[in-house]
Amino acid sequence: MSRETCYRCFWPKSLCWCPSIQAMPTRTKFVFLMHPKEYKQEKAATGRLTHLCLAHSEIHVGTDFDRHEEVQALLNDPRNLPLLVYPGAEARNLSTGGLNPAELGDRQLVLFLIDATWAGARKMLRLSPSLQRLPRVMFTATSLSRYVIKQQPQAGCLSTLEATHELLVALEHAGLDRYPLPDQLLGLFQRMQDYQIRCATDPARTGYRRKPYSQPDQRTPHRGASARRNRFIPESGQIQPVSTAENARTSR
Ligand SMILES: [Zn+2]
Repeated sequence: MSRETCYRCFWPKSLCWCPSIQAMPTRTKFVFLMHPKEYKQEKAATGRLTHLCLAHSEIHVGTDFDRHEEVQALLNDPRNLPLLVYPGAEARNLSTGGLNPAELGDRQLVLFLIDATWAGARKMLRLSPSLQRLPRVMFTATSLSRYVIKQQPQAGCLSTLEATHELLVALEHAGLDRYPLPDQLLGLFQRMQDYQIRCATDPARTGYRRKPYSQPDQRTPHRGASARRNRFIPESGQIQPVSTAENARTSR
């Protein structure tokens, strides 16, 4: 297999995702702030693929965004309404009318998403008071994480691809945006996982786990240090599966 890398999606050229990705137009601007550690684990992280799926998005790697020119320009532009996607007691829930179109007016909604572990996300906020001061929003996921390869141990942990899908569902429902290609993000996520599961079961490959992956709903939460290493993905924690068909699919 060729070891050459596609410098757009960061996968080997023989597995490049780019021809199957169509950049979706959205009214909302999505800004992915990636911790340098996530950037190094590029292949497993879904942030870059999510960015490629959204025409109106940016991705920036770092921890201190108070000195980041492009991020600061977005924060300080009066034509923008910048919000941080981060769960918590004060966060407004986009899924339940926490922001209405009249309040947004003519401004552009700019959503900042952090792509990091919980510890990484906290550090990024500590080093970036301008992000810390942003009003926070969250959403109620319509389904459990479909993550098999990363063994997300908690119900509230979603990949960046899934979280962005959920945000677009919530934004469309609230009348704040349109979600033109609702199958693309999850379809891509599924294909990426299928590929990694095939690698895991191929005895010719080294460096992949040999144990079969358990389904997300059969996992028990990690405790202590390993729990703190969980990926940070903003989500309200209130899981409301869409339908019994969806349940059957995820618990199979
Ligand atoms: Zn590519």
